[in-house]
Amino acid sequence: MKEIVLIKVGEIVLKGLNRRQFEDKLIKNIKKTIRHLGKFEIKNAQSTITVIPEDDFVDLDEVCEHIRRIFGIVAYSRAAICPEKTLDSILETAPAYLEEQLREAKTFKVESKRSDKKFPFKSPEISRETGAAILRAYPHLKVDVHNPDLTVTVEVRDYYAYIRGAALKGAGGIPVGTGGNAVILISGGIDSPVAAYMMAKRGIRLTAVHFASPPYTSERAEQKVVKLLKKVALYSGDMNMYTVPFTEIQEAIREKCPEEYFTLIMRRLMMKISERIARDKGCQALITGESLGQVASQTINALGCTDEATSLPVFRPLIGMDKQEIIDISYKIDTYETSIEPYEDCCTVFTPKHPRTKPVLERVKKADELGNFEPMIETALENLKVTYINTK
Ligand code: ATP
Ligand code: MG
Repeated sequence: MKEIVLIKVGEIVLKGLNRRQFEDKLIKNIKKTIRHLGKFEIKNAQSTITVIPEDDFVDLDEVCEHIRRIFGIVAYSRAAICPEKTLDSILETAPAYLEEQLREAKTFKVESKRSDKKFPFKSPEISRETGAAILRAYPHLKVDVHNPDLTVTVEVRDYYAYIRGAALKGAGGIPVGTGGNAVILISGGIDSPVAAYMMAKRGIRLTAVHFASPPYTSERAEQKVVKLLKKVALYSGDMNMYTVPFTEIQEAIREKCPEEYFTLIMRRLMMKISERIARDKGCQALITGESLGQVASQTINALGCTDEATSLPVFRPLIGMDKQEIIDISYKIDTYETSIEPYEDCCTVFTPKHPRTKPVLERVKKADELGNFEPMIETALENLKVTYINTK
């Protein structure tokens, strides 16, 4: 039996004139995400995208495993194509294709959608006849139109008639690439991969920047970040990661700046360097995993001091979330176990004993100037390492 995947397009349907552009991007993203799994024909009509495998070896379970993570999809389902577009063919296909689900269910109903108005039976007739065929094949079943265990859907479309069971929930959001480009400042922690995921969900294409301070931070710490980004890329698509050599700058902070401002000055420098990379790579915003009040550098005053170092918008999707809420998402996107592997981040290398929780911007800026960091920033930018992150 030939199977396909039907995809219901999400929020993008609401976007009026942009709709076409959004759908085109979504289709491109779907093609790119599954192309390594075989050849597919992809059709788009009536708010449904149809993925039709052209190779016999295609594993639809694997295809769905990728589709469930693509943003811009509200729901998806596997469906069988009826060998012919006739009522008889529908009545034969429905009980056979959904055998497993129908055996398990106690109650069911049939819903029919006829977008091909030339089909000689109307939706209520199709539902009635299909329901009767299912009852003949599975006499234990009862029809329940209000709260059935299983809804069998028959769709008669332009080319084919399809049968499908329950639809599964899609990833939601809007297609990656329709919301602009931004730099995610990524550490090996729990928060920043979640922040990356959340902004990709709003359509942003990501470029990652990671600060490394060898020998204070290890090669394995960087590998951990790569591993995290590969998990994020299952949702966001491929991206580049730029590793910034940060040792010289951190040592200079330690030598030249007041200890109470170490962390804040470091965070300002991260913003400045990330902004330069962002502008160079065509990104319009910065993203961090900061959450209000989580640590001393994330108080309202501290965030104000950090923001002043860049003129780009800084997106902080976790700002109002509790740690547990962030952890719940990291489980969902499968980054948690990697995030808690114990490697040093450069943020924890030279931490002040008594950081300021209410820093005064003018004083921070003065302390910042003491460092004469510009030549070091230039050197760091000349020595970026780029790693291509894909999902393989
Ligand atoms: P995370 O769990 O993401 O590490 P955190 O709660 O530990 O966050 P901080 O270490 O203060 O918080 O970092 C705050 C944010 O700064 C991070 O979410 C991340 O966006 C950015 N950041 C921290 N360290 C790095 C790094 N080494 N490279 C790039 N960005 C970083
Ligand atoms: Mg951290």
